[in-house]
Amino acid sequence: MTKLSAAQQATAAKLMGPALAEGHAYARLAELTDGIGPRLSGSESAEAAVQWALRSFQADGVKAWKEPVKVPRWVRGEEHGEILASARTRGLPLSLLALGGSAPTPPEGVTAEVVEVNSLEELAALGDKVKGRIVFFNHTMSEAADYGRFAGLRGRGPAAAAKQGAVAALVRSLATASLSTPHTGSTRFDEGGPRLPAAAVSVEDALTLHRMLQGGAVKVRLVLGCSDLPDADSSNVVAEVRGREKPDEVVLLGAHLDSWDVGTGAHDDGAGVVMVMEAARLIARLPQAPRRTVRVVLFMNEENGLRGGRAYAQAHAKELPKHVAAIEMDAGGGRPLGVSLHAGPGGETLLWPWLAPLEGLGAARFLVGHATGADLSPMEPAHVPFVGVRVDSSRYFDVHHSMADTLDKVDPQDLSRSTAAVTWMAYALAESPGTLARPTGPESDGPPPPKK
Ligand SMILES: [Zn+2]
Repeated sequence: MTKLSAAQQATAAKLMGPALAEGHAYARLAELTDGIGPRLSGSESAEAAVQWALRSFQADGVKAWKEPVKVPRWVRGEEHGEILASARTRGLPLSLLALGGSAPTPPEGVTAEVVEVNSLEELAALGDKVKGRIVFFNHTMSEAADYGRFAGLRGRGPAAAAKQGAVAALVRSLATASLSTPHTGSTRFDEGGPRLPAAAVSVEDALTLHRMLQGGAVKVRLVLGCSDLPDADSSNVVAEVRGREKPDEVVLLGAHLDSWDVGTGAHDDGAGVVMVMEAARLIARLPQAPRRTVRVVLFMNEENGLRGGRAYAQAHAKELPKHVAAIEMDAGGGRPLGVSLHAGPGGETLLWPWLAPLEGLGAARFLVGHATGADLSPMEPAHVPFVGVRVDSSRYFDVHHSMADTLDKVDPQDLSRSTAAVTWMAYALAESPGTLARPTGPESDGPPPPKK
């Protein structure tokens, strides 16, 4: 296997040195989180983030523009709930957050008996026994890897409960740590289908409800004042460093600019945003551009609609056959662990020499598992190869989608290490003489890459 040339190694140092030493990405993250704050799609702050990104790219000497995206506009209102006192139990306030997409309750709230389920199958088996009840989706998430297993309870559970006649839904927060902090997220109802008020409750409240239900019937009162406003005009922000030899071949770097409306989206996905912006800034500073174009896309509306990811794939459909690789950074600001691939055969052999500069970061290895992300998924039918620059997400779900996702949770050194890794991998994919073979099937069907 060929090694990197001395000149290529020097370029690696030129890109990764400043990423590790300058603290530029972290400073940008402070501007986005403390300066702009939470940025749910359709909000004024989301638009402020679009303007901030355009200004920042301009300051970096990177050409950038907006592309239109119509986004849903869901707005949180007054919200509270309590376990009602009975002869047997004391009344308790619930720590809750309405789920994005939730219907409101009437102003006086909804009061009903709670029925607990642990899976969608268990709910289906109850049939119309949940009619008039509040369905409580409980689960046992304890580590980051559990997220995929239980996210369907939040995403699809409330819609299923509504179809069976339930009056509201409570979902145990999808979290790996809790100090009574609820974690929101989006829930989906069928177009024209029944909807209901749905909220995430803290892990502690879920455990309390579960214990109380062991002793008999429990009633909850829920007040949610959220509302759905008409779709709003918004934008993806796209920026690029043109390739010197094959400018029509694109290496895409993506992250999402929107966040939930609680916390300031520092890990989700401010960290990804500043990493990919920094990659463009550092690559643009090189005396010579890489062979291919490096394009950064800051997607809008990943959290509650994926409209930005869909709009990009649609607007650029003709170019997708020339998207030679795509990287999405949306797993927080942890340290880099390695690289995963969703590509045709031979990808590891092609990229292996280019992993050498990641050795100092402890990330010069291929990892088994996902290489994609939500915003890239609409590009999968076009067989775009996906490259995952995987970061340590073991503590990501401690704060994900909660009030606690703030700048102080992001370690500046970890952020700079992952920034260095993604910067180098973007350059490597844009500079390597060969390109990855295109994957033939969907990601889940691919064979696992060999362990190196
Ligand atoms: Zn995200």
